Amino acid sequence: MPEPVRCRACRSDRGEIVLDLGEQPPWDRMPLRDTPLPDPAAPLRMWLCGACGLAQLADDTDVAEELLGVEPRAFAEQSDRSVDRLAREGLVRPGDRVAEFGSPHGKPWLPRLTGRGMTALTPADAPAGRADLVVDVYGLLHEPDQRDALRRRTALLAPGGTLALQLLSLGTVLRERQWYDLRHGHHAYWSLPALDAALRGYGIGVHRAWWYPLSGGTLLVTARAGAEPDAGTRLLLGAEEGLGVRSAAGLGRLQAAADGADDGDALRAWLVAERAAGRTVAAYGAASRAVPLVCRAGIRADLLLAVGDAAPAKQGRRMPGTDIPVVAPAELAELRPDRVLLFMPELADEVRAVLPGIEADGGRWVVLDPAVRLLGRVAGPRAAGQRTGAHGGLRLPS
Ligand SMILES: [Zn+2]
Repeated sequence: MPEPVRCRACRSDRGEIVLDLGEQPPWDRMPLRDTPLPDPAAPLRMWLCGACGLAQLADDTDVAEELLGVEPRAFAEQSDRSVDRLAREGLVRPGDRVAEFGSPHGKPWLPRLTGRGMTALTPADAPAGRADLVVDVYGLLHEPDQRDALRRRTALLAPGGTLALQLLSLGTVLRERQWYDLRHGHHAYWSLPALDAALRGYGIGVHRAWWYPLSGGTLLVTARAGAEPDAGTRLLLGAEEGLGVRSAAGLGRLQAAADGADDGDALRAWLVAERAAGRTVAAYGAASRAVPLVCRAGIRADLLLAVGDAAPAKQGRRMPGTDIPVVAPAELAELRPDRVLLFMPELADEVRAVLPGIEADGGRWVVLDPAVRLLGRVAGPRAAGQRTGAHGGLRLPS
C-alpha cells in the first residue's frame, strides 16, 4: 500500500489521484551526454485534494533540481507587461517596499521594481508586516509545503499591502489538455478558484486577475485584505470552475489526453514518416515541457538527431530518458537538418532570426502546437488542410 497523501495546503487526506503518468525521469534535469541509460525514474502523479481543491504532486521525490535556462524573450516581455500592469494599478510606488519570491523559470522582477523607485526587502530576513507589495513569479509551485509557503508570503504583507502572483493556472493546463505540465519538483497546480479560497484562509482574497497568452494562458493575480473579485475576475473564476478544475471528473480529461491521442504518438509517427522519406529531423528548445513528448514516446536519436538549445548549461547533455543529445544552436545548424521541430512555438520569431542558416540550407521549421490541435481550432484553411493529414498536431509555419 502506498502511503496516504496529505494535502500540501490544508492537510486533508481526502482526495484522489487524477493523473498518473507512471514512472518518469525528472524532465527538468538533463543528464550528461555520456551518462548511461536508463535514467532513474519515480512515480509522477497528480492528486486532487477533496477538501481545498488544490491539485498537487502526490509524491515527494528528490528530483527537484532544475537547470536555469536562458530566459526566452517571450518570458521577459511578459514580465515587462505584468510589471506595467501592476504600475497602472498603482501598486508600484516609489519608496514602497517590495519582496520577491522568485523561481528558476525566469529572471526576477526586482530590478524592474527597484528601477521604478521601490525598496527591496529580502523575503527570508524581512520582518512580518512590512512589504507593501509581495511578488511571486512562478515561485509558489516549487514549494513542497504550500501551507507554509502561503503563510510566509501573506505574513510579509503590510496593512493594505498586495500579493501579486504570476502563474500558469490549472485552468489553462486543463483547457489546453497540457498534461505534460505535471512535473517532478512542481508541487502545486493552483486553479484561480482554489487559490482564492486558500488565500481567504490567510485573510486576503483575490481582487483582480489578468489573462495573458504566454504558455497557453498565464495569469497575473493580485490579492489583498478585504478584497472581492472584480467583474472580470469573476468571469475568469467562473470559467475555470466550469472547466472542472476542482473536480476529479474534470481533471480526468488530462489523463485521457495523456493516454489517448498522445502527442508523443503523433510525433513518433511523423518522425518515422520523415525518416522513411529520407529527411533528417532535429529539434530546438530543450525545455522541460518538451521532454515528456520525447520521453513517453520512447523516441531515440535514430529518429531525432539532436535538440538545439541556447542555454550553455544544457549543452553537452542529453534529453532525460533517451540518447538524444542537446547541442548548441550553431552545432544544430551544422547538422543541416531537413526539418527542425520547434518545441516552444512562442520562440519561433526569435530562433528563425538567430538561425537563418536552417532555412538557407533548405531546411524547414516545424511547430508542435498542441493548443491548436486540442482545441479543435484552426488558424486558417491552409492549417486546416494540414491538420487533416497524418501529422497530427504538427504544422509548418507559413
Ligand atoms: Zn487541501
